[in-house]
Amino acid sequence: MSDTINLIIDGKQISVPPSTTILAAAREAGIEIPTICFHEATTSNALCRICVVEVEGSRVLVPSCVAHVSEGMKVQTQSDRVTRSRRTILEMLESTVDLSDAPEIQTMIAEYKADGERFPQAKSRVSTPIDDNPMYLRDYAKCILCWRCVQVCAEDAQYTYAINFSSRGYDTQISTFYEVPMPESTCVFCGQCVAVCPTGALKPKRQWLLELGHTPDEIMDLTRSERRNRRRRVEVPSNDQA
Ligand code: SF4
Repeated sequence: MSDTINLIIDGKQISVPPSTTILAAAREAGIEIPTICFHEATTSNALCRICVVEVEGSRVLVPSCVAHVSEGMKVQTQSDRVTRSRRTILEMLESTVDLSDAPEIQTMIAEYKADGERFPQAKSRVSTPIDDNPMYLRDYAKCILCWRCVQVCAEDAQYTYAINFSSRGYDTQISTFYEVPMPESTCVFCGQCVAVCPTGALKPKRQWLLELGHTPDEIMDLTRSERRNRRRRVEVPSNDQA
């Protein structure tokens, strides 16, 4: 088996090792393909489909984050069909999710001229922010179900399994098992889920309080006292008390 695969992306001849994804090959050649659910630290799942490309001979558009290169492949990353598909994905996201804290997606919306009014009947994702721990807020009205947080909480990083999907279809959302409050779950508050969230659906508590207009001193007081109270609530009883 050859240790190099030759392909053409956007008219450019490229040689990469076998098992390289189209996305990685394109990036190596300086060709940018937009991504949303893809993250270097997580396993690619091709959930958002924004990275689709047109491959000659393929009936359907191909998600470049998971599709591997093959010898003689001809790829177009910006064809009309690709552009239309990406625009529609962005329009569906804009119609249903609060993207106010997702600057990268907003940039894509402008770049692809996505019309947020295209689906006027679309049902917006409605959810009250969940403030159940001293470390971070969960506002699932901003969640695009990219799966990144679930992955870093599981095999991609932490092996904690505190969060996963719950429900089905439109009602699908990220949740703890049995929807218990985060401090009662297996969460160790490592912060990795917050770090990989692309939309502000998971936000550090102190950032949230700052945005609400609290001063740094107030924020320190608020989060310190909250941590103290929670520590008291979860104190393990001594042998005498048990
Ligand atoms: S909470 Fe954030 S990281 Fe998790 S699925 Fe939603 S958008 Fe993705």
